[in-house]
Amino acid sequence: LEREEPNYFGAGPALLPTKVLQQAAKDLIDYQGIGLGIGEISHRSGDATDVIESAKANLRKLMNIPATHEVFFMQGGGTTGFSSLATNLTAAHVGRTGSKGTAGYLITGSWSAKALEEAERLGVDCEALFNAKDFNNGKFGAIPPESAWADKIKSKDYSYVYLCENETVHGVEWPQLPKALTESSIEIVADLSSDILSREIDVSKYGVIMAGAQKNIGLAGLTLYIVKKSILQDISAAPLDQLRKLGVPITPVAFEYPTVVKNNSAYNTIPIFTLHVIDLVLRHILEKGGIPAQQKENELKAQLLYETLDKYPDFFNLPVAKDCRSKMNVVFTLKKEGLDKDFLQGAADRKLTGLKGHRSVGGFRASIYNAVSIDSTKLLVQYIEDFASKNA
Ligand code: PLP
Repeated sequence: LEREEPNYFGAGPALLPTKVLQQAAKDLIDYQGIGLGIGEISHRSGDATDVIESAKANLRKLMNIPATHEVFFMQGGGTTGFSSLATNLTAAHVGRTGSKGTAGYLITGSWSAKALEEAERLGVDCEALFNAKDFNNGKFGAIPPESAWADKIKSKDYSYVYLCENETVHGVEWPQLPKALTESSIEIVADLSSDILSREIDVSKYGVIMAGAQKNIGLAGLTLYIVKKSILQDISAAPLDQLRKLGVPITPVAFEYPTVVKNNSAYNTIPIFTLHVIDLVLRHILEKGGIPAQQKENELKAQLLYETLDKYPDFFNLPVAKDCRSKMNVVFTLKKEGLDKDFLQGAADRKLTGLKGHRSVGGFRASIYNAVSIDSTKLLVQYIEDFASKNA
């Protein structure tokens, strides 16, 4: 099973290493000689349990996950991730304090905005601690200074604070967790769907990490969770009666974190093939030298692209402030009108694909996730140079 190495910059589902897909294709037909594919066996069989254990162990190794945190997987993606977070974390606050508190959201782009909308829709008490648009001429593209919102977190009983570490659509990435949060006792809950495993992080600082699989870790269909064990205990300590009395929405059973953990991620039928692909990706990154090596590559790719785009300030518009430019999703537009189609066509002629910006923002977006090689990035850089010199 062969393919020409793609130069694909799509935002998600995203490119996976060819080597991983080749192995996955074999295992889909016949897993380790058992005469059945890995997707055809019971999710509670020994082989499936081995896949779950292997994925958990490899993730622990890669991310240096402390014993204080549990790792588990559930069907879904980023959206089921932020829906389930809202109800589970509110229940945890009830279990811990007896009151439901208020969930605070840091809005830096469309995904954190959607997460807040969903919490509101579910009936969770929640509010924005800031909306970055209010500080940047009505547009996403910058993160306000902590001084603009840090005092607020002391003003109320916050159940958790939610942030999206990398805003995939707007190309805004938190350079690090805000100090106001790491120095407080409020649980930090973060969506890492589009930057997990791209850089080293200190897992101990997070209450919850959630990530849809289909960008840096595998195929669509699963969400990865890393949750502080004390939060799981707090959720279990909140009786349903009390949640009902307080008007806290009850989490559907397949998304209730302690239930999923008690059943080792197999309370209901986990897509085990999808998890096996995740495990193959994790092994692949470990073989390459782990997150430090991956981070180095990612930094080089982002530097190559941003430096090239910055060379032509009259031609390219980069809407994101330098201190929070995403290293995963490089967003840009052309200043000259009428050239967008030519840019995409010229790229396609060189087999550079997936560059169209999100429909809500237009322009272009080069997603340079882990599986996108330095060679691919260099081909794109050369194309950008050529296009700018010809048309500027
Ligand atoms: N969060 C982030 C950061 C995303 O990029 C996406 C999807 O692109 C989502 C959440 C939603 O993911 P899904 O489509 O799997 O629900």
